[in-house]
Amino acid sequence: ESAISASKQVHYFSNDDGDRHQRRLMITQRLEKAIDDGALTLYFQPKQHLAEGQVKSCESLLRWFDDGTFISPAEFIPIAERSGLILPLGEWVLDQAFDQVRRWHQQGKGIQIAINISPRQFMQPDFVQGIARRLDSYGVPPSLIELELTETSVMETGAAARQVLVALRELGVSLSIDDFGTGYSSLAYLSGFPVDKIKIDRSFVQYMDEQPEQQAIVLTICQLAKNLGLSVIAEGVETEAQRELLASFGCDYIQGYWLAKPMPANEVEQLFVG
Ligand code: C2E
Ligand code: MG
Ligand code: MG
Ligand code: MG
Repeated sequence: ESAISASKQVHYFSNDDGDRHQRRLMITQRLEKAIDDGALTLYFQPKQHLAEGQVKSCESLLRWFDDGTFISPAEFIPIAERSGLILPLGEWVLDQAFDQVRRWHQQGKGIQIAINISPRQFMQPDFVQGIARRLDSYGVPPSLIELELTETSVMETGAAARQVLVALRELGVSLSIDDFGTGYSSLAYLSGFPVDKIKIDRSFVQYMDEQPEQQAIVLTICQLAKNLGLSVIAEGVETEAQRELLASFGCDYIQGYWLAKPMPANEVEQLFVG
């Protein structure tokens, strides 16, 4: 054994790496079963229109209770992205979300659902067809569906992404860019893409009532978005002070614990009137 490969091995099997590797493996194996076993469910977090105060839409967020233990999507989604399991998982999420939109629609509640789409899902050649097929088979108006895309989805695939976005817009669904500000895209560049809305990342909102720089960033994003004809939503709003600042900045919508946490469908529908 050479000294180099020996030191690599030592590094590879260091406790931390080993634990992380084990956990990834465990999550991959159990997640595959969880889809079949009904251990996954969608929660919904309301969004509020700031000027009018109405709550007419919500975001679907995956929840996984593995034998009673909660495992966060912030942990398992990136793992599923890497293993490819995100594809069947993403299909499952789309079906669940469309089914929920259909139910609310049939009950006369026009509640829009925003569905998180991961980059790998977005890049599937049949992604647009999958959305078109569901609009048809679930019989829901496209205006009740919003897709939350990541900056990576839009940036890394460039021209191909534009065509996908155009095709989705033609179907009549809304498109938003999630976690805006955390990637490398600029608003000027994004404005060349047919998206409707940008979602300011929680990391900017979080300290905006304490840190002037964060506040300046949020204000700039709001102003520029308006000038470009995009609507803006702020995620992770936790305080009244944040909400008031955002309202004064002309931000269109807010979402966050200040308004409501993600919750099961039966709880969220009680927040909606008519
Ligand atoms: P995201 O799409 O940016 O969702 C927002 C996250 O912030 C959610 O975490 C939500 O519970 C949390 N959040 C909302 N308001 C507040 C607040 O006021 N304070 C704090 N501290 N947190 C707040 P969650 O549910 O753990 O999801 C994490 C991420 O996992 C999501 O970020 C999204 O990227 C991904 N994810 C969740 N569900 C899905 C899914 O169905 N498909 C895909 N592809 N990704 C998903
Ligand atoms: Mg989201
Ligand atoms: Mg987000
Ligand atoms: Mg986020």
